[in-house]
Amino acid sequence: MEAKKQNISTTIINRRFQQKDSHGAISMPIYSGAAFEFDTAEAMEDAFLGKSGKHTYSRISNPTVEAFEDRIQQITGAKNVTAVASGMAAISNIFMTIAYSGANIVTTSHLFGNTFSFFLFTLKAFGVEVRFCNLLDINEVEKNIDDKTCAVFTEIITNPHIEVADLKALADLAHSKNVPVVADSTLVAWPSFDAKQFDVDLEMVSSTKYLSGGATSIGGLILDYQRFDWAQSPRLDTLAKAVGKRAFTVKLRGEISRNLGAYMSPHTAYLQNLGLETLDLRFKKMSENCKNLAEFLQSVPEVKSVNYTGLRDNPFHEISQRQFGEYQGAMLTFSLENQAACFRFINRVNVIRRATNLFDNKSLIIHPLSTIYGTLSPEFKKMVEVPADMLRLSVGLEDPEDLKADILQAFQS
Ligand SMILES: *Cc1c(COP(=O)(O)O)cnc(C)c1O
Repeated sequence: MEAKKQNISTTIINRRFQQKDSHGAISMPIYSGAAFEFDTAEAMEDAFLGKSGKHTYSRISNPTVEAFEDRIQQITGAKNVTAVASGMAAISNIFMTIAYSGANIVTTSHLFGNTFSFFLFTLKAFGVEVRFCNLLDINEVEKNIDDKTCAVFTEIITNPHIEVADLKALADLAHSKNVPVVADSTLVAWPSFDAKQFDVDLEMVSSTKYLSGGATSIGGLILDYQRFDWAQSPRLDTLAKAVGKRAFTVKLRGEISRNLGAYMSPHTAYLQNLGLETLDLRFKKMSENCKNLAEFLQSVPEVKSVNYTGLRDNPFHEISQRQFGEYQGAMLTFSLENQAACFRFINRVNVIRRATNLFDNKSLIIHPLSTIYGTLSPEFKKMVEVPADMLRLSVGLEDPEDLKADILQAFQS
């Protein structure tokens, strides 16, 4: 089985379990229990020392979750994949592994709401500083990096601003300063995008979104490409001397993930593994629907502007095509006259649902400033620069003509 020559759907669907199920089950069963039994004390010792690869306790590893991790590894080429309870668990596990008191993170204030809050409020209490700058300006990024920088963090497509930085340029700069790049690929039409090609060191994704198979469950993934030399990191340098480029994963799996206790549940892994089997179909159709709607919205007189990288006049169109290829994802934003017009529109839609989340099979609409960023103080609201007249639309699998009709009637009613 040469995985690279196959279509991604075939690779996913054709992938067998590492260990045959005792009943020959064709889908990985849900091993829901907490603990695993051993025949001897010696076998138990080997398992606890990580010598046999056997599962001991489902907070640490689990056969159902491992089957999901294995498939993700197959299609991405990551050297290690760790599945956790949410996208936020992926981000917090990563930074609990690489950050330290006195360290700083170089990123932008244009971030997903909880990521912004985690960096600015949660990590601050542990002596970690966040430096917000414009990631689209390499010189500015360079000025913010120093010998205490533990990572450059970027959302590959930012949520909800839809900005796209030049990933290779960021990685080249970060690596020239011995700093790793941590990238959130949640908004990218996953997995048509290949993070390895852009020298990303650690990738995280909220598998709640595209992967879960239609908002079936909350989950997150940490992908380690094992290309960064952690001997450069004050946190991992000693470990790196012993295990080389595996230092991040060894620390994460051997200490941090089991101590934070946010490993993915077997039920979630079962659902998301099933979701993965239809991912290729869904993200293509969703992306096509999204482009179709973006073009349509541009023709609606009430709509002041539409932001979607699949539109030719979008400032990030070219770089997005270069980095992500044909499919530009299923999230767009558009502006109406003001916040009141946004609320009126939200209240009148019938097919589109009033809900947060992204890449459900259903189309979802939200006014980000009053919801996701609603509890921020005026000072921090100013910092995230989310406009009051902006709506975010996640485009689902409905027939696009029905979505257009819904939008038109919402403006007319
Ligand atoms: C949703 C999201 C997250 C967080 O994921 P959860 O699974 O909700 O914890 C992180 N980053 C981005 C860009 C997201 O859209």
